[in-house]
Amino acid sequence: MAEYGTRITNTALIKEYTLMEFARLNFTEDGTPRSTQFDDVYFSQGHGLEETNYVFIQGNQLSERFQQLADNQHFAIAETGFGTGLNFIAAWKAFNELAPASTRLTFVSCEKFPLQRDALAQVYEKWTNLTEFTHPILAQYPPAFEGYHLLEFGRVRLLLMLGDAAQGYSQLSAKIDAWFLDGFAPSKNPDMWQPELFHHINRLSHSGTTAATFTAARLVRDGLSGSGFALQKVKGYGKKRHMLIAKFQGIHGPLRPAGWPNPAMPAPPPNQRKRIAIIGAGIAGVSTAIELQQRGYQVELFERAPKAATDGSGNRQGAVYAKLSAHTTVANRFYAQALVLAQRLLQQLPAEVPHQSCGLVQLANTEKEAKKLNDFAATGFFPNDFVRALSAEEASQLLGISVEHSGLWFDNGGWVSPVALIDVLIQENRLNCHYNTDIQHLDYADNQWRLSTATKQWLFDQVILCNAFHSNRFAATQHLPLNPISGQTTQMQATQSHQQLKAVLCTDRYVMPAFDDQLTIGSTFRVKSTDTTLSDEDHQQNISALRQQVPQLLSDHENIVGGHCGLRTNTPDYLPLLGAVADPEKLDRQFRLPVQRNRLEREPAARYLPGLWINAGHGSKGLSSSQLTAKLLASMISGEPLPVPADVLQALNPNRFVIRNLLRDKRSK
Ligand code: SAM
Repeated sequence: MAEYGTRITNTALIKEYTLMEFARLNFTEDGTPRSTQFDDVYFSQGHGLEETNYVFIQGNQLSERFQQLADNQHFAIAETGFGTGLNFIAAWKAFNELAPASTRLTFVSCEKFPLQRDALAQVYEKWTNLTEFTHPILAQYPPAFEGYHLLEFGRVRLLLMLGDAAQGYSQLSAKIDAWFLDGFAPSKNPDMWQPELFHHINRLSHSGTTAATFTAARLVRDGLSGSGFALQKVKGYGKKRHMLIAKFQGIHGPLRPAGWPNPAMPAPPPNQRKRIAIIGAGIAGVSTAIELQQRGYQVELFERAPKAATDGSGNRQGAVYAKLSAHTTVANRFYAQALVLAQRLLQQLPAEVPHQSCGLVQLANTEKEAKKLNDFAATGFFPNDFVRALSAEEASQLLGISVEHSGLWFDNGGWVSPVALIDVLIQENRLNCHYNTDIQHLDYADNQWRLSTATKQWLFDQVILCNAFHSNRFAATQHLPLNPISGQTTQMQATQSHQQLKAVLCTDRYVMPAFDDQLTIGSTFRVKSTDTTLSDEDHQQNISALRQQVPQLLSDHENIVGGHCGLRTNTPDYLPLLGAVADPEKLDRQFRLPVQRNRLEREPAARYLPGLWINAGHGSKGLSSSQLTAKLLASMISGEPLPVPADVLQALNPNRFVIRNLLRDKRSK
């Protein structure tokens, strides 16, 4: 682990994104942390919690506002400078004590110089009366890479944006109810209190928004009043003479965050109408249902198979894994964020779901691949506790079998039985599922979606398509490009040599530690095929491909005892389709004609089909990606702050292929 305050590493490979630098700090005699970088304290010596309560909780009248929340209402707080999380804990504690049980809180914060986990644990050691908050934070404290990280504590969520404040907030899609403008004194840290930050404070505020800050410095007064707030100077905490409280006056600057396409496809309006049908009971559908149910929606799942988790989610064991590349592309940042969440779920699973958080090796299978993995590790963008480079010897040791190539190690990687996982999720959350129910038509009339099978019909306020390859079988969704890929796994009677494998191994095939005396390897890849019959040829392909990479593991005479052939669904750019579905005709009007007439800015934005959403196209990565997409979709529908940056959101927009084609002015039909 890096020393406090050292830059983790640096190479030229990361251009657009900065590497995280940890906080440099020491402790006063009573254990209060003090930044040596900024020569300022994180909070008042000995009175941190009282100060926070005075400045931020009282300053924003949160006690009253929490008490007055309506059923299922959501409240959003945003902070500058997460530091030790004391302000977050104070808000969380007050919310627990005062807000009605069905309400939810999102606390958004940013941090450019995060405390290392050890330093944070040292701070928390002193807070013996706050362990119900500090222990869960430490358990979920994210790996230090720039970007958004979602931590969840029941009905309270923390969206921690690692990186510069203005950069983090420039990518946020949210409506903020109260601002905690913390941070070191403007005189000691003028870099944070930038006009761009105030611009986004303005963009993210609404007519009921308040702000409070410990300082009354000129820079902050001007910034806040310039961004539409009416200010009041009041007595500061303790010996401080003044602080500021403020109320937004409802004057907005431009509302859209920068992004593609231009004009940006506006965020879909949240939809509070409560009855939602979800089509497809795989990992995406079930995860989405749970998130919405937690937000007070009444959800019913429709599944054409006789049980949940068949196609893509039907393997006996599935790896929690995503292949990351050496570049901080949008796709890479999406999968990295998603993987952290999926790994966390893995760690929290009950014993009745077969799983192991045993670590995972991504093994290079060629020299070129080995170089790529080295380049990846050399960027230093991801910290070692998330992923690190391995020599062949280290990989062999961690796997328990000898391998000849180098690779990467994901310490929190592992495997899970998707079928058992989905079954337990359905039972624990008492999800309402209709099996053997093949929805063939979807029509919208009189503010309702009608779902029809050959013999039955249902009416719902909203519909979410989570049925993978079949999501575009409906008239309204035909324009969504989804390609099937069938793939087969192979199960073998576990031998003594198989039993040596201690961690998941992913190369051009994957293999998981033996479970119930069987070793599962996967998977073949039949592009654009919907044929799911098991074949001997595919079994042999799996075995011989893996034997080439790890000859130690497999012999010539493996005893095949089973397998599963399922469909996965990919999009042309290998990212899922996530969000609101738009009417392609209206997109045509917004994007094609104006391009031809060169007046892109003047056309009204295309409308989404009201209450029609999709979460599909996860390829073989659904176990890793669908936690994040489910939380993102539920946040979109309910109007909570979106847990991913705007560029990731745009990259997942289900309408992106139609828009790209229109912008290129070669409409594909
Ligand atoms: N709210 C914190 C708490 O509850 O412990 C205390 C915040 S401390 C006074 C200020 C924090 O702002 C530090 O953690 C510091 O690293 C962070 N910070 C400084 N400059 C920043 C910037 N440009 N963007 C984001 N965070 C920054």
